[in-house]
Amino acid sequence: MKAAPFDHVRPTSVAEAIALLAREPGARVLAGGQSLGPMLNLRLAQPRLLVQVNRLPELAGADSDAEAVTIGACVTHAAIADGRAADVGNNVLAEVADGIAYRAIRNRGTIGGSLCHADPAADWVTVLMALDAVVVLHGQQGERRLRVADFIQAAFRTALLPGEILQAVRLPRLTAGARWGFEKACRKPGDFAHAMAAVLLHGGVRRVVIGALGNRPLLLEGDAASLDGAQHALQAMPELTPVQRHMQMAVLHRALAKAAT
Ligand SMILES: Cc1cc2nc3c(=O)[nH]c(=O)nc-3n(C[C@H](O)[C@H](O)[C@H](O)COP(=O)(O)OP(=O)(O)OC[C@H]3O[C@@H](n4cnc5c(N)ncnc54)[C@H](O)[C@@H]3O)c2cc1C
Repeated sequence: MKAAPFDHVRPTSVAEAIALLAREPGARVLAGGQSLGPMLNLRLAQPRLLVQVNRLPELAGADSDAEAVTIGACVTHAAIADGRAADVGNNVLAEVADGIAYRAIRNRGTIGGSLCHADPAADWVTVLMALDAVVVLHGQQGERRLRVADFIQAAFRTALLPGEILQAVRLPRLTAGARWGFEKACRKPGDFAHAMAAVLLHGGVRRVVIGALGNRPLLLEGDAASLDGAQHALQAMPELTPVQRHMQMAVLHRALAKAAT
């Protein structure tokens, strides 16, 4: 199938992109097009206007200070995998990015596009929740900041308001003794995962996120961030089959073991 007809513009600034989105309610942001492209071709999305943002310098950079790393929404998975963006420590982001899909998709797919698409099986959705990242959003009303855990509301649903653009993701740096584990299970390399777990232990923080659940990831913090806590929480999800629960627990075991080494 082919996409329904649409107009296409390349604004030269975020302000211009926001103005275009405000003027045309049938407009949609286009970043790497790795998810929106297939949706257009299947006519699951039929925007009147595509506002292409992935070449905007304001969205393409990465920055860091002593406390956090800020990654522009249009930084690609490949740039992160290749170490062309600052990392939070221990190569955590580069390793995650390197495991996303195939190189061709990593070359175009962006961290911001992945979050805004909010596929429950997307790697960044789970990982950025575990790292307690914050999204920086820009719209006609100005800037808003939200924890990724609040931004991702359900499968393919975010807190992005009409006309808003995701500008950047801000991630706290890992402390020296931080322990991290990320594991996923895929039918074959490059496929979306059918089980996923991220674990972060640092200072007094204990956080476990279980992804690829079919809905938003499950965030467990403090005492609940344990094998028992996860078992209990997965048991309380009637939509999961016993095999899915088993797969998730096996992947979580591996992520916890990785964090312990
Ligand atoms: C075959 C295949 C396999 C894949 N495998 C994986 C995988 O294993 N793991 C994984 O995590 N991902 C996977 N992906 C997804 C891919 O990694 C991209 O991250 C994802 O497609 C979205 O990024 P994008 O930049 O292409 O966004 P686009 O497709 O351009 O946009 C996606 C959505 O986000 C919106 N959007 C994009 N950027 C912004 C912004 N800055 N502000 C507001 N809204 C915005 C768009 O309007 C659209 O609704 C796969 C994709 C394909 C096609």
